[in-house]
Formats: sequence, C-alpha cells, structure tokens
Amino acid sequence: MLPDALSSIHAGPRHQLPIGDGDRRPGGGGGGAIEVVVLGRAQDGGMPQLGCRKPCCVQARSEGRRELPSALGVVDHQRGSLHLVEATPAIEEQVALLQSALPDRSVSAPLVDGVLVTHAHMGHYLGLAQLGREVAATDRMPLHVSARVAKFLKSNQPWAQLVELNQVELRVFEPGVRFELAPDIFVQPIPVPHRDEFFDTMAFKVCGPRACVLFLPDIDRWDASDLGPDFLPGLVSEVDVAYLDGTFYDGRELSGRDLGVIPHPPMIDTMQRLESVARERPGAVRFIHLNHTNPVLHDSTLLDELRSRGFDLAEQGECTLV
Ligand SMILES: [Zn+2]
Ligand SMILES: [Zn+2]
Ligand SMILES: [Zn+2]
Repeated sequence: MLPDALSSIHAGPRHQLPIGDGDRRPGGGGGGAIEVVVLGRAQDGGMPQLGCRKPCCVQARSEGRRELPSALGVVDHQRGSLHLVEATPAIEEQVALLQSALPDRSVSAPLVDGVLVTHAHMGHYLGLAQLGREVAATDRMPLHVSARVAKFLKSNQPWAQLVELNQVELRVFEPGVRFELAPDIFVQPIPVPHRDEFFDTMAFKVCGPRACVLFLPDIDRWDASDLGPDFLPGLVSEVDVAYLDGTFYDGRELSGRDLGVIPHPPMIDTMQRLESVARERPGAVRFIHLNHTNPVLHDSTLLDELRSRGFDLAEQGECTLV
C-alpha cells in the first residue's frame, strides 16, 4: 500500500486500488470513471528473481516481499469492462487484482474483456499460455498486438494453438495509429526501438475522456536516430502520467558492465532529459519495469532524492482517472 508520505507528492487524479475492499473501490461515487491501474512494476523476471542470490533477492525472500512484472489494467466502472495491458508470468495475481476493482462483475463474464501486449519478451507475453485449455480456456479473448507480434505468435507453439483453438482472437493494430479499445477508451501504439529481431515493440498511450497515460516499459535508448531529439519530451508532454522504462538506475547495479552497451536508458539519463517536466509537474513521470537489482527498490534515501526532484516510482495498485 502507498505510504502516507507519498500521497502528498502525487499530482493529478491518482489513488490506490484498495484490494478486496468493495466499499472504497476505484471510482466509487465517481460514476462512469475510467481508470488505469498499475498491476506490477518490476522487470520481466519480477523480484525475487529466479536464481538471484544477491542481497536484493535474498532479503526479498526473507521478508516475503514480491514485486510483479510490469503491467497495467484499464477499468471502466460504468460499463463494467476490464482490459489487461501485458500478459506477464504473474497473470493470475494481476487479473485477480484487476477484477477486485469490479467486485460486482458477473462470474460468467470473461476474465477480462481484452489483452494488449507491447512485445513478445517473456515478462510481457508469457502469461498468454494460461489462457489455453490447460488453465483458463478463454473463448475468443481479444488480443491486441502488432502484425509482427501476431505473426510471431501464429508461427510458434504454444501460442499458435491459442489462435487455432480460438482461445484468443488476434486484433492487429497499426503502429502509430490510434484505435478504440472500448467505448471512450483509445489506445495509440507507439513503436520504440527494442531488440526487434523477431517482432517490434510498442509503447501504449491510453486515453479516456479526461486524461492520457503513457506505458513505455522497454526501450533500448532515447537517442536512436529514427526517434528524433524531441521524442521523449514530446511523448511526456502529451500525457498526464508517463510510466517509463526504469530498468536500471545508473549502472552501479550492473557490477562493472559497460553502461553504454546495456540496452536500456539508465534512470539518471532519463531524469536529466526530463528535469524541467518533473519540476513543473511533480509525480507525472513515474518509473516502471524496475530490475530486481535497481537500487531505488532498496535504498530509501535514493528514492527520497528522486522524489525531491519531482520523479517517482510506479506503485502496484495506484490508479489514474482517465
Ligand atoms: Zn521487459
Ligand atoms: Zn536480485
Ligand atoms: Zn523486452
């Protein structure tokens, strides 16, 4: 749950999803509210991470601390719809958390009304396997992906079987072209450079009638030649809340590996680029996709310093009214 000290920093219409508390659910009293909720904020492997015997995960195991891979949910309280952004290996917990936002949803309703996937790296799409007949056995679950991800899924098992057995129905979007996910909910997929040998990678801009949220969990670099110098500030200026790739802090967590060859912009670089935005709109830039070794997950002094500059971390359960 959100520490009290943090809530005062939060700009904009943001609050916590009260898990399992039907009286204080998101949008309660707001009638017709559409909200974007954070369902996880860790890098693909979550925390603790398989096999990690460094203090980050040793301590997490001993404390029972768990950070789920990055994902968002979109909740429409008036129409009763739920959409899941990313199918992570923790899809069961994340769908349960999302469903807790709509406690009156019929048990015969599909588990969610649609799934969006940014790209096919393990932390972002492996959860799709649980839609198969061994587990949830969904029926034509709308799955929004790019043409290249759709091709990747159709040409590789076990994903191809999900399509063949109509457990998912591929809805192919055009990179860069905004589409209507559901009434009053629009998504713009934004192509980003990120190791695209087998498929492309998207960021998503999710907009409701009131506001927009950017979800950009994975990018190789901000200064790629095809992006242009205004790519990052331009994107952030178009949204109310931006969840950005915070995989690594400054390279100290990489024990000597050259930061220049790590395919993620370090948080210190991103913060430098967005210094004035964070000052003017504190809390609008929020880091997600945090690696288990990232010191901001473990060092409260560092986190306080980051917050004093107007930046913050995504928190599981936090909601933004869109
Ligand atoms: Zn990732
Ligand atoms: Zn670790
Ligand atoms: Zn990735």
